[in-house]
Amino acid sequence: MAELGKKYCVYCLAEVSSLRFRCTECADIELCPDCFSAGAEIGPHRRWHGYQLVDGGRFTLWGAEAEGGWSSREEQLLLDAIEQFGFGNWVLESEYL
Ligand SMILES: [Zn+2]
Ligand SMILES: [Zn+2]
Repeated sequence: MAELGKKYCVYCLAEVSSLRFRCTECADIELCPDCFSAGAEIGPHRRWHGYQLVDGGRFTLWGAEAEGGWSSREEQLLLDAIEQFGFGNWVLESEYL
């Protein structure tokens, strides 16, 4: 049962309110960093689709401001994903709830 205002990974159903990858080609496909890194495919979605990086309002880029933002685990997953897919393909989008 989804709580209002929370977002869930369509693949593993993990809560992704703080950080998720939204497919730019499928409607309502949002993946957690774990599934994104693993190249999860579900329904019409394929791993090579375009993505937007979406955060729940606490996104901070690396550096001094990162403290209190993402957990180191989330950050590492994102770094892994960037290494795998390249940052240039992405559109960064912030949502302030
Ligand atoms: Zn997931
Ligand atoms: Zn897709």
